[in-house]
Amino acid sequence: MKKNLTNMNLNELERFITDIGEQKFRARQIYKWISSGAESFEEMTDLSKELRHKLQEVATVCSLELLKVQESASDHTRKFLFALEDGNTIETVFMKYKYGNSVCISSQAGCRMGCTFCASGIGGLKRNLTAAEMLEQVLAASRQAGEKINHIVVMGTGEPFDNYLNLAQFLELIHDPEGLNISYRNITVSTCGIVPMISRFGHDFPQVNLAISLHAPEDSLRSRTMPVNRSYPIDQLIQACREYGRKTGRRITFEYALVKGVNDSLSHADRLSDLLRGMLCHVNLIPLNEVRETGLHGTDRETAERFRAQLEKRGIPATIRRELGADISAACGQLRLG
Ligand code: SAH
Repeated sequence: MKKNLTNMNLNELERFITDIGEQKFRARQIYKWISSGAESFEEMTDLSKELRHKLQEVATVCSLELLKVQESASDHTRKFLFALEDGNTIETVFMKYKYGNSVCISSQAGCRMGCTFCASGIGGLKRNLTAAEMLEQVLAASRQAGEKINHIVVMGTGEPFDNYLNLAQFLELIHDPEGLNISYRNITVSTCGIVPMISRFGHDFPQVNLAISLHAPEDSLRSRTMPVNRSYPIDQLIQACREYGRKTGRRITFEYALVKGVNDSLSHADRLSDLLRGMLCHVNLIPLNEVRETGLHGTDRETAERFRAQLEKRGIPATIRRELGADISAACGQLRLG
């Protein structure tokens, strides 16, 4: 098995390079090439032919194979389908905003959380992604789009807190000033609410933004659509969020997908605002995106606006999210296993 050098920080790469009998400074050259998107040793033109050949024999810098690109007709969103080395597939989304370019990465191939409204869990979990496979999604999306990346959202397929150690390694790599140097403040990790990981994440990465997929203000409703709620009910979740806020001073984003006739009434808005009262937070309302298999529908714009106004009236800041890439099934909850 060849070693994937994209998994390594500079220290680890230096160790690897000296272990194969090369001079330590080569590691920095290779590290720079990886961070600037090189997908083969061939491209690393300041290394000798012999060294490039030697590295090819024992290592790789790119394990993803691009299978398909789809570009939205209405915005600049692009969705990429990649094959992993073991044949599993994942999706990644590149988005252009006024404030910069953002990549939405997957953290697992498939997902075992089983939320009923989401396409990503339909085939169950295949496996965790490595840090390199997460980083390579960013590098490949940047290279394909020909654009620099300013923001990362870990909101693709998978539950990042179900793959915490690899997620942590990825965050450290992408933040590394010698690497892509992406500020922690420009990274958002979203969880469906694996409660014990919230305080750990707040401790390990207090500057990374945290988003919580809430989607319902009461247990009966939430447990029906999000099985994770049966293990970690709403009061535990909210308590962990309040604690997180106290410790980090950071504002949490709550994602709330509005499902027509299910969770979008004014009394749902009232219960939601009771739940979040006094917390440093923001609610992102997303009219549910179409996922063929679910038979569920998104709330219409007018009802969504009324829901938002009700939250605001009760002191909870809320916005209705502009969804990018819905025409290529690249919006929230629409990513799947190819
Ligand atoms: N597993 C993590 C990361 C995925 S983020 C999490 O649950 O937070 C993807 C976001 O899209 C989550 O907030 C998810 O609940 C939401 N989502 C899933 N299906 C959706 C749909 N059909 N329409 C809108 N949002 C959806």
